[in-house]
Amino acid sequence: MEVPQHTLGRADDLGDRVPQPGEAARLPPWLRSSSSSESGLWSISSSESAKPRPLPPAVCALLQSSSSSKSGESGCDSFEHRCIMNLAKDYLPVPPPPAPAQKITHKSHRFIMHASPSVVLERTKRFAKSALEHYNRRKKIKFELLDASPVNMMTESGHLYTHVNFTARSSKEGSKEQLFFAELYYCGKRRAPGGYIVTCCEPLGSDSTVGHKGYQVDGASAVRKNVDFTRCYACSPRTLHPRGDKYIAGHCNVPHIYTNTC
Ligand SMILES: [Zn+2]
Repeated sequence: MEVPQHTLGRADDLGDRVPQPGEAARLPPWLRSSSSSESGLWSISSSESAKPRPLPPAVCALLQSSSSSKSGESGCDSFEHRCIMNLAKDYLPVPPPPAPAQKITHKSHRFIMHASPSVVLERTKRFAKSALEHYNRRKKIKFELLDASPVNMMTESGHLYTHVNFTARSSKEGSKEQLFFAELYYCGKRRAPGGYIVTCCEPLGSDSTVGHKGYQVDGASAVRKNVDFTRCYACSPRTLHPRGDKYIAGHCNVPHIYTNTC
């Protein structure tokens, strides 16, 4: 089967267009909007990237396979298709966190994504589903999952945590899509049937903050040495988080401590 050669810029290309202080702190709407079209995705890449690179063949294959299941029963894009689109968007440049964050520049420690796209996709769907099920069990008004963005897994003090963003809509008439953040902790199958428990799951508000993976922040916000409870240093700036005290992992700001998270 012939795989189309889509080209996108990668986040690493940010190194060639040095971020300016005050540059947009958050993800642009086209990246956060899970309903953005494929044409929007590709056209952004051609205008923003100085060095477009091809998408990995595995991602192209996923995009191709999902085009047949693009529309769900309601005529909207299917959950699967939207998740794959989010996975592809991970290869686009992303604005850096706001000042005073500074990029860590040791090239030998540059971020490497280890897991294959199909593995990331499966994990993403599974974690988002279990987080929202957990959330719905505690709420009168139930939410329906619309899509999820690639998960970030991290080890901290010997424990495994996962951060994930997903979009959901409540069953209330006229409700809008809502972006959520969830943190899951691996506790083993003796404690939970799926092996994971949800340590945080909530809709994001205007006080959400981006991940700071690959960046350092010196000074005031660190509550104690090497720990900054206001930010997550394990996720890239693509991932939005609630207030720092709502989740457990990702707060250590020692350079490269989360380099091998994926
Ligand atoms: Zn995080």
